[in-house]
Amino acid sequence: MGTTEIGRVGAVDDQGGGRLEIIPSRQSKVGAMTVHRALPRPRRRSIGAWCFADHLGPIAVSGAQGADVGPHPHMGIQTVTWLTQGALLHRDSLGSAQVLRAGELNLMTAGHGVSHAEEAAGGFDGTLEGIQLWLAQPEETRHGPADFQHHADLPVVDLDGGSATVLVGAFDGQCSPAAVATPVVGLELTVRSASSLGLDPTFEHGLIVLDGALELDGEHVAPGQLGVLPIGRDELRLDAVVPARAMLLGGVPFGERLAMWWNFVGRDAHELEVARASWVEDDGRFGTVESRLARAQAPPPRRPAR
Ligand code: MN
Repeated sequence: MGTTEIGRVGAVDDQGGGRLEIIPSRQSKVGAMTVHRALPRPRRRSIGAWCFADHLGPIAVSGAQGADVGPHPHMGIQTVTWLTQGALLHRDSLGSAQVLRAGELNLMTAGHGVSHAEEAAGGFDGTLEGIQLWLAQPEETRHGPADFQHHADLPVVDLDGGSATVLVGAFDGQCSPAAVATPVVGLELTVRSASSLGLDPTFEHGLIVLDGALELDGEHVAPGQLGVLPIGRDELRLDAVVPARAMLLGGVPFGERLAMWWNFVGRDAHELEVARASWVEDDGRFGTVESRLARAQAPPPRRPAR
């Protein structure tokens, strides 16, 4: 999964004066799937360390035709994969082969380099839908080793009119077992009626509605939109226009410059060029994935925007 945009992200985005801003997602294609990309967008490059968000599907999959994202590299991020329907098979260059089902979390740390593929989960025939998110790793960990974790049991917090599953970070005293390197939160919300959530005011937040529609600060937020709340909010009041499922992402504004190209996240164009060359030459940096799918071809190099 990747982006062909290059840009800077970070605290410079905070122009909202505490107000909700609604930013449309961009439709794209990843493997066999249509995705709606909520991050990065030209007006909003990140939410905390969250620097990429693709809402995948819903699409019909079978044992013969799955998500089908062939082996491709990453560096400098953690991928957070969460399904709301269906199943897929994650394979990576660490040797992991993990079926991911709806309601479970895959967390892959790229560090200096890793590669992975997303395949059909044998025997699963039905609808696939979910979200893949990237967390930028800070300077202290981004050159470190790769890692893969699967978490099938995550804390769930009751809300007045729904519930919140804690994928990453902590919420209402409940901590996710997923290990991340910066102060962030990632929740899946199911909302049937008016609900109030306590927020960390040092975090900026983004709301991505996966299905249904929510009302937030008197505005409707629907699938295909990112609702952005700048730092300083300590409460979020949501209501369901129709029963909804949404992701709430938050974090302390990420203070480091990010350069992004294709599947690579670094700090400048040179790092991205070095990574591209390693993938094209298959020099071992990104390892090898045992997959029946074709290894992804890197797009031609592109001069970064300045
Ligand atoms: Mn990927």
